[in-house]
Amino acid sequence: MTISPAALLILLSAAVSAAPPLSVDGARLNASMAEMKAFGATPDGASARVAYSEANRAALDHVAGLMTAAGLTARIDVAGNLVGRREGSVPGLAPLMAGSHIDTVPNGGHYDGVVGVMGAIEVARALHDAGVSLRHPLEIVVWTNEEGGKNGSRALNGSVTAAEFDLPSLGERSIGDGIRFLGGDPDRLADGRRTPGEIAAYVELHVEQGAILHRDAVEIGVVEGIVGIRRWNVTIEGFANHAGTTPMDQRQDALVAAAQFVTTLRNIIADEPGRQVGTVGRLQVHPGAPNVIPGLVTLSVEIRDLDMGKIERLFDRIRAAGEALGAATGTRFSFEQFYESPAALTDQRLQDLVEDAATSLGLTSLRLPSGAGHDAQSLAPLCPIGMIFVPSVDGVSHSPLEFTSPAAITNGANVLLQMLLALDRLPD
Ligand SMILES: [Zn+2]
Repeated sequence: MTISPAALLILLSAAVSAAPPLSVDGARLNASMAEMKAFGATPDGASARVAYSEANRAALDHVAGLMTAAGLTARIDVAGNLVGRREGSVPGLAPLMAGSHIDTVPNGGHYDGVVGVMGAIEVARALHDAGVSLRHPLEIVVWTNEEGGKNGSRALNGSVTAAEFDLPSLGERSIGDGIRFLGGDPDRLADGRRTPGEIAAYVELHVEQGAILHRDAVEIGVVEGIVGIRRWNVTIEGFANHAGTTPMDQRQDALVAAAQFVTTLRNIIADEPGRQVGTVGRLQVHPGAPNVIPGLVTLSVEIRDLDMGKIERLFDRIRAAGEALGAATGTRFSFEQFYESPAALTDQRLQDLVEDAATSLGLTSLRLPSGAGHDAQSLAPLCPIGMIFVPSVDGVSHSPLEFTSPAAITNGANVLLQMLLALDRLPD
């Protein structure tokens, strides 16, 4: 019997499509998630694994062991990041990178960061077990001190300054001492820098830390980017005077002006379509006595959005509204910016790959911004970045009550696996 080349192609493609897609071992992945709870566990069930603590170092040793068992070569880099690498089959290709963090806030949960690390390690195990080699090298990274400044991932883009080494971390050690404690070398941080083109792509799986996916019962979040943040100090000057003798129509009450300003800001932010958020999170009233009309209020304004231009436009409206309120209440508003973090957009092609991977696995997906910061934003200046979110039950995070279901974690790791396979197949 002879088979024509065309028929052979059809037979081959049928055989390929009939093969079950490579998938992760969900039970093994969730067992690894559970093992991590032992590192930094508090009596009330929280995770206190702050960066550079004994618990952090012990956990990194444990994860390094998992990496080695998954066929990765593990090392601590100069910034204290744990990097596990397997070589690719095509010499000279830049690595595909995946990772997240295992450090926590002082009274944190068990999912923030850990899902991305264990998900990536499970992907490496699945590739290892199936004997699948990728064309690209694969690097799985546990970034250090995500919660206290992201200086681990920022070391790659060269934005860490020596002044940061003396800063306290969330634990007992300074950042410089902490990097040494984990086996890094702050004096050689420049050696850990990577340049654009040295990394093919970076993908991070993470819990949403918000309630959108959980509320809408969506299984996978396709992250559009990490929002930009701007913060201002607002000073409202009125006139402090006797609360008993000053008639209501003769007051210059800074707190009355501030109260109206807070609700005005809320309305300006909420009335415009989109996912922007704005917050007054701090407010101080002077002199702060029951029998004195408040003469001075200082408060903070924070606005977050993927579009820095939109933040600017919203702020212009808020400032104009504040000035109008000042005129109406006999007070004076002044604004001073004290913090800015630019938005980091994920790559459009990587967004499509997350969505395609979810669809191919029969999972529902939704595009959304990340309102929280992530290590991925440190990689954005260096390579295309992509992020996969899985639902946080009730949107709770940075809390011992943080929870993501084992099934959701398995879904996320399977999307990560399919995405890395797809990225590996893309033409160079
Ligand atoms: Zn995180």
